[in-house]
Order: sequence, then structure tokens, then C-alpha cells
Amino acid sequence: MDYFDIYEKLTDEDLDIKRAAHTFAEEVVRPASRRLDAMSPEEGIAEDSPLWDFLKTAYELGYHTILLPEEYGGLGLSPHQINLIFEEIAWGGAGLGTLIAASCVPFFAACLTADDELIEEFVIPFCSCRDGSIRGCWAITEPDHGSDYFGCEDFFRNPDIRNNVQARLEGDEWVINGQKSAWVSGGTIATHALLFCQVDPSLGMAGGGICICPLDRDGVSRGKPLAKMGCRDLNQGEIYFDDVRIPKRYMFCEPDYYPEMLELILSSANAALGIGVVGIARAAFEEALQYARERVQGGAPIIEHRSVRQRLFQMFAKVEACRALSRSVIDLNLNISPPLPEYSLASKTFCTQLAFEVASEAMQILGGYGLTEEGFVEKLFRDARSAMIGDGNNEVLQAYGGKVLAEEYPRRMEDYF
Ligand SMILES: Cc1cc2nc3c(=O)[nH]c(=O)nc-3n(C[C@H](O)[C@H](O)[C@H](O)COP(=O)(O)OP(=O)(O)OC[C@H]3O[C@@H](n4cnc5c(N)ncnc54)[C@H](O)[C@@H]3O)c2cc1C
Repeated sequence: MDYFDIYEKLTDEDLDIKRAAHTFAEEVVRPASRRLDAMSPEEGIAEDSPLWDFLKTAYELGYHTILLPEEYGGLGLSPHQINLIFEEIAWGGAGLGTLIAASCVPFFAACLTADDELIEEFVIPFCSCRDGSIRGCWAITEPDHGSDYFGCEDFFRNPDIRNNVQARLEGDEWVINGQKSAWVSGGTIATHALLFCQVDPSLGMAGGGICICPLDRDGVSRGKPLAKMGCRDLNQGEIYFDDVRIPKRYMFCEPDYYPEMLELILSSANAALGIGVVGIARAAFEEALQYARERVQGGAPIIEHRSVRQRLFQMFAKVEACRALSRSVIDLNLNISPPLPEYSLASKTFCTQLAFEVASEAMQILGGYGLTEEGFVEKLFRDARSAMIGDGNNEVLQAYGGKVLAEEYPRRMEDYF
């Protein structure tokens, strides 16, 4: 379905980008995502898995560099264009959309450092990769620390709270030990991690460091791919570090700047997820609209019922509300520095909640068929449900947003524009 775009200022270039992304989503992402959804996690990364063809095509089209500037070989897109592509890819498959975004994360962070050596060593080869062989991941969640990273509450500076992944400096090298949780997207197949670790335990979780860790180093091992309910097309799994050594310069962020960098990366991730779930919600709405036109009960298509029309219209309004908010937020937060986290948090929590409601209502409109694999909406429902937990549980993010409002609001326009 060629879905209308309310934003009337799209240029011809924007429209071309959107159409190309939609074709990719329809012809490549959705078929691969549905096949992967039906496979076991192990089959999903086997040699003959559709995952590899998906990655190859995505990399050939340059979508892995969606967040990266043209000067390093990235697509050099405006925030608005990033938005259009993310929505389309997530429409095709939210898990594969997350995989591509996660793949870009270490290299996006390396760009933020403006460190020429890191850019030369990591970003340039990643941008020129066209076969999917260089893959990033964002390794933050630990077996003992999920929401803790998002809470930014008083315990953040409690020295009794130890991260599972610790790094200590030995001469010119950091030595890394510990484990990241099974939730790391791309965890069992990534070649590089944006790794969050504790470098100064005396500061508690505030004593964090962020490094780029190539995952071919001695001492790195992986868990098995995670089996789960939603985003089953997304590979996830643990990464273990056993005396893994990296050069000192790979640790580009240490405690003096860690809280700001953490907030910046969380703001970017939450803004991106807000867009991704619009793709899920839109897909669910389209399925429901189509089905309501075709399904005949009592001699007439069910869309002839006033109440079905009303329910479809509510779904439509929710999709458009999510689109409007998530677009504004990514436009804002990719254009100002530092980003304003409360907007990313509003986008992530609001859009994931509404996307879940839309997917759930779509399932109801499809009736019994909605519960079947063939009906497809049950996949969208599962994917939407997992987005309320991924990148931070919604209620924890809302409490974090509330803390920003309590302490930093109202903002002054002149400080930002
Ligand atoms: C699809 C998906 C993709 C993901 N991708 C990645 C990735 O790429 N990299 C990565 O590192 N991680 C990733 N994650 C992990 C994700 O960020 C965590 O699952 C999330 O942060 C929640 O942590 P948790 O699962 O440990 O839950 P917990 O933190 O254990 O929370 C459990 C419950 O306790 C409540 N709770 C916890 N703390 C508080 C508090 N302070 N106040 C009130 N209530 C609280 C929560 O609201 C929740 O209901 C992904 C997860 C999903 C689902």
C-alpha cells in the first residue's frame, strides 16, 4: 500500500529516498523478517539463513551507514531522511531494522569523538563495507543491570554497585573482564561492539567508560542466540570478555564525560525507536484496513459497520500522532547538541504504547485470523510488545523523563536555537 505522507515539505530527493526504502522493505526486509520469525534462533544465523542476503542487500544500498556523514562514506542524510528510511525498514521488519541500526552504533559513536585515528581505523572501513562483513552492536545491558542504566537515580553514584563488565588500565592497554546480557542486538554475530563498562568502581555506575571493542580479540566469546517472543528476526546474545586487551585510545569516553555521553546515546537510541514503532503500527493499521474491506460477515464487508470504521479511524489517528511526534523529535535531537532527552523519552514511550494499542486492535479486527501466523498481525503484535521493553522499560523511562521535568524544566528557547 502506498501510504500517504502528511509532511508536505518532502523534496523530490526525500520522496526518491522514501520510495527506494519502501521497495527495499517490501521486497527484501519483509520476506526475510517473516522467514526468520518462523525459524529457531540457531537457524536464523546458519549459513543458509535469509539473514545474510538481507544484510548484503542492505549494505549494498548503504543503509548500514544511515547515521553517518558523507565525508566518511556514509549516506549523509538529513534527520528527516533518516526518519523516512527507518520507518520504511521497520514497516518491513522491526527486528531487522533494529539490527541495521545497532550495526551502525559503534561507528556513529566513533564519529561523535571526532578522533581522526578512530575514524580512519573503524568508520571508513565500515562505510565502505558492502558485503555485510563488518557489523556493529551496542553492548550496554548486563545480567545484573538493565533499567539501572536508564534510571539515573541516586544509586548511580553508589560505589557498592558494580557493573558486570569491568575494565582496568595496564600500561597502554585496557583489560576487560565480564559479561554483557543476552539482549545485545546482533550480539552473537557482531564484529565490533560499542562497549559500556566500569573503569572506576569507586564512582559506582557513574564511573563508566565507553570503548570500541573489536570482537575478534583473544578472550571474547559469545552465548547462543536468544529465543524470545517478539522481534524474533533480530539476533541477540551474550558477549563474554576474559582478559580482553584493547589499546588505551579505544576507550574514548571516561568518567569525566560519561554521564553526558550516556545521555546522548540513550537520547539517540530512544528517538530512533520512536520512529521504528511507527513502522510497526502503520503495518498493523494497513493489514486491518485491508482485511476489513475483504472480510464479509452477514453478506457485507465488515468495514461497512460503523463501529469497525470508528476503530480503524482511531488506529489511523494513533499512527499519525506517533509519526508526527517521532519525526519532530529526531529532527530536533539530531540537530542540537546536547540533545534534550525528555523529547526522546516522550517519543519512545508514547509511540511504543500506541503502536502496541494499534497492533492489538488490528488483531481484534482480524478476529480469529489475527491469531494465526498466516494473518501476520500476530507478529506485529509481538514485535510491538517487545518495543515497550527494548531500549528501556517504558515506566522506567517515564520516571527518568519526569526527573528531567522536575529538575530542568522549563527550558529556555534561546539556549537551544
Ligand atoms: C528488542 C530488544 C532489543 C534490545 N537491544 C539491546 C541492545 O542492542 N543492547 C543492549 O545492551 N540491550 C538491549 N536490550 C535490552 C534492553 O535495553 C533491556 O531489556 C531494558 O533496558 C530492560 O532491562 P531488563 O530487561 O534487565 O529489565 P529490568 O531492569 O530487570 O526491569 C524489570 C522490571 O523492574 C522494573 N524496574 C527496574 N528498575 C526500576 C526502578 N528503578 N524503578 C521502578 N521500576 C523498576 C522495570 O520497570 C521492569 O518492569 C534490548 C531489549 C529488547 C527487548
